[in-house]
Amino acid sequence: MWSPLADDLLKIPGVGPATAAKLRRLGISSIDGLLQHRPRRYLDRSVVTPAARVKDGQWATVIGVVERAESRTSRRSSLRVLEAVLRDESGRIGLVWFYQGKRGRGPTRPPVSAGQRIVAWGTVKWTPYGPTIQTPEWEPLPKLGSGSQPLSPVPVYPLTQGITQGQLRRWIQWALDHCAVADPLPDLTRRRHGLLSLKEAYESLHRPKALADVEAGRRRLAFDELFAWQLEMARAARARRLTPAFVCPAEVLPPPAFAAQLPFSLTAAQKRALARCSEMLEQPWATAALLQGDVGSGKSVVAAYMAARAVLAGHQAALLAPTRLLAEQHQRNFQRLLSPWNIEVTLLVSEMPAARRRELAQRLAAGEPLVVIGTHALLSPEIRLDGSAVGIIDEQHRFGVSERESFARKGKAHLLAMSATPIPRTLALTLYGDLEVIALDEKPPGRQPVDTRWIHPKDRARVYAFVKREVGRGRQAYVVFPRVHGDDEQDQAAVTQAEELARTWLSGLCVGLVHGQMPPEQQEEVMRAFVEGEIDVLVATTVIEVGIDVPNASVMVVEGAERFGLAQLHQLRGRVGRGEHPAYCLLLADPQSEAAKRRIDALRKTDDGFAIAEMDLMLRGPGEMMGLAQAGPLEFKAAVFPQDLDLLQAAKEEARLLVEGITAKR
Ligand code: ADP
Ligand code: MG
Repeated sequence: MWSPLADDLLKIPGVGPATAAKLRRLGISSIDGLLQHRPRRYLDRSVVTPAARVKDGQWATVIGVVERAESRTSRRSSLRVLEAVLRDESGRIGLVWFYQGKRGRGPTRPPVSAGQRIVAWGTVKWTPYGPTIQTPEWEPLPKLGSGSQPLSPVPVYPLTQGITQGQLRRWIQWALDHCAVADPLPDLTRRRHGLLSLKEAYESLHRPKALADVEAGRRRLAFDELFAWQLEMARAARARRLTPAFVCPAEVLPPPAFAAQLPFSLTAAQKRALARCSEMLEQPWATAALLQGDVGSGKSVVAAYMAARAVLAGHQAALLAPTRLLAEQHQRNFQRLLSPWNIEVTLLVSEMPAARRRELAQRLAAGEPLVVIGTHALLSPEIRLDGSAVGIIDEQHRFGVSERESFARKGKAHLLAMSATPIPRTLALTLYGDLEVIALDEKPPGRQPVDTRWIHPKDRARVYAFVKREVGRGRQAYVVFPRVHGDDEQDQAAVTQAEELARTWLSGLCVGLVHGQMPPEQQEEVMRAFVEGEIDVLVATTVIEVGIDVPNASVMVVEGAERFGLAQLHQLRGRVGRGEHPAYCLLLADPQSEAAKRRIDALRKTDDGFAIAEMDLMLRGPGEMMGLAQAGPLEFKAAVFPQDLDLLQAAKEEARLLVEGITAKR
């Protein structure tokens, strides 16, 4: 991967081992990483407000000369107040810094001194003495008349506990000034796609002259990210084309013969998918497909068909699931679907007794025709799957591309990657390179729509009273809180809020809590208790398991719903309405923004995940795109869609050239 700067963070003045550890919490472990840490937003100082015209509560930038600067200590407390008065042609404004602490500690003078010309910015507060900015940020300015440059925007970074904006800004500026940035991208490639050099990109992100500069920097980082991704995809695709796979002839189980034994009739989309999979299995080289479909669209049936074909042709099939709970669910489901053919469906998880695991490993290595369903344990080197003709991956985005490929290469397998977070076909085709994309865009008949409502937070009491009523009727419910990425403190706040909720509104119910700071095994324990009905309400600050099937759950409450993307809300809603009971999705949020209103409208109008994915792509404003990390399967940090589709195309083309060994000429 890219690592033009391997420099150690400890080189930065003021950064010691303890600080480096804190930075690691932000995902920063090198100077390179520091420079890649993108601001969350920028303070726009291009508009300067005259001191006489500031308003209470306004975020303002003021330029003037410091008239007075003094400090005083409050008589009653140890509070020290440092004050300055800033004057411009229109009037005066106060600047105030507070220090709480022992006598003699901390600064005794304001950071500015009389006569200095400065720019100060912050939130204006009206006091009995007039307007002031409390704990303003500021910078010295040259004396008047020496030419006035517009003030550059100030970056605001995602933080973690124990690190301040000021520190992070200083360290990043230091790195920009002192570290050489080598650009891994050839000049030619860069120019072909109109991209900045890496050094220029960092400059434009961390010290833009104007807000308009930022976008070009982001695009450069986005390109690198997409290029790395496409390189992996192209390598995998090339390797596949050169890899033989077992042929599983259609005669052993033609799709109609399979369908005839099922307890329901297939949807047209399922029939199409089966036909495609049938063709794949007749190829002598490793084929691969991405099977996309909403939760409940019947993907497992397609997977079960491929598994049955493999076993009836005398080979093995393996299914990889991200959690044990999902693996067990698949095992039950496969056993039911494959019972007419007497196919053995066995489970392999790391928690099983060593003796049983050894025995199973031996049978697998001996090539016995059976279906094995498991977790990461399947990937371990001592599990040999030489006989596997079909590899299936559930929730494929939870696994890396290399995990995916090495899983299929354990045998001579055709690959079926499944995803319950559909993305638009055009995007999927480009993003997933040479995977064939198969869509299950039709729900099995007889599903009732989930009653979806947007509710103002002031009506929270009614929402939770409703949850209690549903639980009283024997149902279960989910409550989901948004997780705030890259900010420990806010994450912690969500956890506290969730705990608070369990104690207050939901008291008397059996409430389970899942959050991202819990170890995965513990998270799974709680999920299991919910599946088994021991827990009435599952409160979660992480996004709960996509594929988990709890037919008895009838209510999904989403707190802070405006923080979720459309596709994600749809995902959450998919967790309910899987049983015979009427189901509800209650979105708690103050729908003030137009975008939020459009999202809820879209959700009400359709429950087709493909349509929603298209809308999601169109509805997101650039601002909302910043939080993409939370939104579904595309966990890119800098790249955003749809505006980066052209970059994705470019990255794909460059990756192809590189992998095919073609020297770029143009
Ligand atoms: P997915 O994996 O896409 O979320 P599943 O394959 O688990 O969905 O299917 C959800 C439920 O619907 C299962 O109980 C399955 O047996 C059932 N099902 C699948 N296909 C059909 C169909 N064509 N008609 C009726 N029920 C179906
Ligand atoms: Mg499923």
